Amino acid sequence: MDDCIIIGAGPAGLTAAIYLARYHLSIRLFDNGSSRAALIPRTHNHAGYPGGVEGKELLRRMREQALEFGATREEAEVTRLVPGDAGFAVCIGPAKYRARTVLLATGVVNRRPAGMDDAMHDHALAQGMLRYCPVCDGYEVTDSRVGVIGTGTHGTAEALFLRGYTRDVTLIAPEAHELDAECARKLDAAGIVRVDGPCGEYAIAGERLCLTTADGPMAFDSVYPALGSDIRSDLAVAAGAKANREGCLEVDGHMRTTIPGLFAAGDVVKGLDQISNAMGQAGVAATAIRNLLDEQRPIRR
Ligand SMILES: Cc1cc2nc3c(=O)[nH]c(=O)nc-3n(C[C@H](O)[C@H](O)[C@H](O)COP(=O)(O)OP(=O)(O)OC[C@H]3O[C@@H](n4cnc5c(N)ncnc54)[C@H](O)[C@@H]3O)c2cc1C
Repeated sequence: MDDCIIIGAGPAGLTAAIYLARYHLSIRLFDNGSSRAALIPRTHNHAGYPGGVEGKELLRRMREQALEFGATREEAEVTRLVPGDAGFAVCIGPAKYRARTVLLATGVVNRRPAGMDDAMHDHALAQGMLRYCPVCDGYEVTDSRVGVIGTGTHGTAEALFLRGYTRDVTLIAPEAHELDAECARKLDAAGIVRVDGPCGEYAIAGERLCLTTADGPMAFDSVYPALGSDIRSDLAVAAGAKANREGCLEVDGHMRTTIPGLFAAGDVVKGLDQISNAMGQAGVAATAIRNLLDEQRPIRR
């Protein structure tokens, strides 16, 4: 029986691993290798890295730091989480691991533009022609030509946010626009052009991402899909934890979910989907886990 099993080795899970290992607790860290942070070509808003840092390099450094205190990432996909009287069973297929507490740090997956093949997607992402996070990298598109694929309140909010960086923003509906009067008024007031879909036939020409719309072909310096995300909270929800309508786990100020002993941190929890936030939440969760375990059985006494 371990003190804690962490599911997910992105910025949240790795931060928690560093804290928990340094609290002299026995932990395991399972991860299936799909951190959103690994997709970041270079982050410029993560403090402490003048000139920025690649997402993969940041993860590598965090793994190395966790290892200094004996915490290793084990490659595995957790398939089931079962709460019991004395803790949890964490299942990887038929194998079962037991822990007194669990931290879920499984993140989210961005929905991709339909019809864009993986090779083009990854190339466009690496070159900054495709971007997913205006909070992260809106600065990099200052005064350039930007397309936002989306509609409704979510697409409108993302287009308006990006308008703070450039006047040249076009909101492209994946199919046809579904905009209420309030969204339409705000977009008009900000001078944001609206174009109906279907949006597709992606191609790269020089340093621009091209696509077709109902108005014909268009080319942009950067395109932001605003198509929402799938929240990887299913393990916790299936175990009985409460989540909001989108699937983000409900937590209190100590990152406790509604299941005693089950904690959550990072993008899987509602809030700003940022590395800094994932790390902060993980520090809070790890300390709450340590204090809970110490109450149950004093650590090293
Ligand atoms: C293109 C892009 C650019 C970004 N740029 C920035 C930026 O500049 N600055 C910034 O602050 N943020 C940026 N972000 C957001 C940032 O990547 C996330 O906020 C951050 O990675 C969240 O960390 P996390 O640990 O919660 O989740 P993740 O990093 O997504 O990690 C979750 C981990 O859980 C694992 N996992 C999931 N399910 C299971 C399972 N069942 N079993 C085992 N393992 C599982 C996954 O393999 C993954 O490693 C960017 C995101 C993208 C996509």
